[in-house]
Amino acid sequence: MKLCDPEEARRVPGRRLRFGERFRFRCHPQIDCFNRCCRNLRLLLYPYDVLRLKGALAISSEEFLDRHAEIELAPGGLFPEVRLRMAENEERSCPFLGEAGCRVYPDRPDTCRSFPLEQGLLYEAATGRDEPVFFFRPPPFCRGPREPAEWTIETWRADQQAEVYHRMTVRWARLWRRFQENPWGREGPEGRRGRMAFMAAYNLDRFREFVFESSFLERFRLPPSVREAIGEDDEALLSFGLAWIEFFLWGEKNGPFRAAGPRA
Ligand code: SF4
Ligand code: SF4
Repeated sequence: MKLCDPEEARRVPGRRLRFGERFRFRCHPQIDCFNRCCRNLRLLLYPYDVLRLKGALAISSEEFLDRHAEIELAPGGLFPEVRLRMAENEERSCPFLGEAGCRVYPDRPDTCRSFPLEQGLLYEAATGRDEPVFFFRPPPFCRGPREPAEWTIETWRADQQAEVYHRMTVRWARLWRRFQENPWGREGPEGRRGRMAFMAAYNLDRFREFVFESSFLERFRLPPSVREAIGEDDEALLSFGLAWIEFFLWGEKNGPFRAAGPRA
């Protein structure tokens, strides 16, 4: 996900695609370059990617982050990047690459799912508006664009079952952009509030423990339907977690957070 202003969008390599514009692409196991794109990668993981992958592997979010993620706060950065840890072999292949292809295919990350498209978020500071944008940018070794199938953003997204990924990635990108305005103050992104935001987005099982096992539910009155949903459903919990970040960092009341009144 690229965050860009209109000027930067013009400089992004590759072809910017508008909705309805066509591109050629097909990927299949018989193609010469099969799986070449799953090696030597710098693959960013977004919160929804982690949710799906930890479910596919039947492990907790904490285990997933420990085993499969590299978490790095760049010098001067305002939120850590989470990347998939590649195998320690010569090719630095993806740990989920098997003989027959991707072993987590139904739950593969947004970047893999959208490929050869890359989604960006175009932001105009003057108006405060943003819009998702797409770039067609297969690497030179990828032979998919020589194949006969034609797509638009819309048909590709539907074919790859990427709608929910794109929606959740845009939601995350909007928060990420606001993190760049330094909501952490002097404590920085490694302080208490930065760690809370990281947990609410990336470490969902730990966040669930925090909600249900701390004084959280005494401090906030949540509708029973919300309590039930976030207790059982990771997607509901992630949406809740992102709304929680907006609430505790910026005071936005677009989530279900109501301070609990005095006890009767
Ligand atoms: S390089 Fe392109 S065509 Fe080849 S396997 Fe990857 S996505 Fe498919
Ligand atoms: S998750 Fe699957 S598609 Fe993505 S790089 Fe790994 S093996 Fe390839």
